[in-house]
Amino acid sequence: MRDGNCIFCKIANGEIPSATVYEDEIFRVILDLGPASRGHALILPKEHFKDLCEADPATMAKILPLAGKIGMAMKEKLGANGFNVVQNNGASAGQTVFHLHVHVIPRYEGGPVMVSWTPGEEEPKELEKIAEMIKKGL
Ligand code: 5GP
Ligand code: ZN
Repeated sequence: MRDGNCIFCKIANGEIPSATVYEDEIFRVILDLGPASRGHALILPKEHFKDLCEADPATMAKILPLAGKIGMAMKEKLGANGFNVVQNNGASAGQTVFHLHVHVIPRYEGGPVMVSWTPGEEEPKELEKIAEMIKKGL
């Protein structure tokens, strides 16, 4: 299924041109227009899923191996030393385009840390309580 108003549907299916790194029947991998680093890529399924909650498990099972492959090519061909795999779900998580996509962001020696957070503190009892709450939703 495609969404006629979705820009990533149009890009993934070739209606809007993009710098394409890889394509098969299920995915198109493009370069991000506003890259966090040189070579920042986005894996787009050709089918429209809003986010991970809607995604088809068979498609998702193929995404991480593909991200690994893209990341290895970045290390080999762009001189990256590592890469981040990032996937945002929902506006509060930073998602701005509501067509599921996975960022593969190459990282270079001496470059800034781009995906980080300040570790908080939590009591073990509270961790148990939170774990139980999540478990109930599985
Ligand atoms: P999100 O914040 O939703 O996880 O990421 C959306 C990403 O898509 C952003 O990094 C943004 O730069 C990129 N982006 C948005 N529109 C376009 C576009 O039309 N073409 C390309 N190549 N990237 C886009
Ligand atoms: Zn879409």
